[in-house]
Amino acid sequence: MPIRAVIAPVTPLQQNCTIVWCAKTMKAAVIDPGGEVPRLLAAIEQYGLTVEKIWITHGHLDHAGGTAALKEATGAPIEGPHPDDAFWIDDIAASGAKWGMPDARSFTPDRWLADGDRVSLGETEFEVYHCPGHTPGHVIFFHREARFAQVGDVLFQGSIGRTDFPRGNYQDLINSITGKLWPLGDDVRFVPGHGPMSTFGQERKTNPWVADEILADPLVGR
Ligand SMILES: [Zn+2]
Ligand SMILES: [Zn+2]
Repeated sequence: MPIRAVIAPVTPLQQNCTIVWCAKTMKAAVIDPGGEVPRLLAAIEQYGLTVEKIWITHGHLDHAGGTAALKEATGAPIEGPHPDDAFWIDDIAASGAKWGMPDARSFTPDRWLADGDRVSLGETEFEVYHCPGHTPGHVIFFHREARFAQVGDVLFQGSIGRTDFPRGNYQDLINSITGKLWPLGDDVRFVPGHGPMSTFGQERKTNPWVADEILADPLVGR
């Protein structure tokens, strides 16, 4: 397997920060460092990794609140999210103060991402897909050979992301899931922003929001 991964839930919201690395070079990307940066750095050292990238799925506090501190500690560039999430990133410090994460800080990504982009990690690379709906600039990271995705708050085991935040959009989220995630393959295992891992195929069978059977039901009106 070209990559390996370890999930480290952070912040009071138990957000799934994932450390992924290129097995050949031991170069790592930290996806969604929402907080608890010293603990993340300890895990990185424990696994013998060098942080090469910081990847952000979307600009919410619990996913991106520790980004500035992690960049200071590692020097690694920040890639993502899509520029439509800039207003959420700008809000991180204020919402951190409000939600009991006073260390959370805003930042400017070194590279904004767009649909179809590729991001490199050691000797391998991930594909990027723009999946708006939960937030307008949400992206997901996909490793084709490993059949692995980190989807943030787009899709969960048995649920989908909230769409009641500013510039959230329910139909955009459904379109992102069915139009961007499902085509990647039923066998893809994904880490959601919160809770346990699942596969796209499992969610297409059992997820009460986006199962094939539910979406095909004309009475549901989705
Ligand atoms: Zn979110
Ligand atoms: Zn979240």
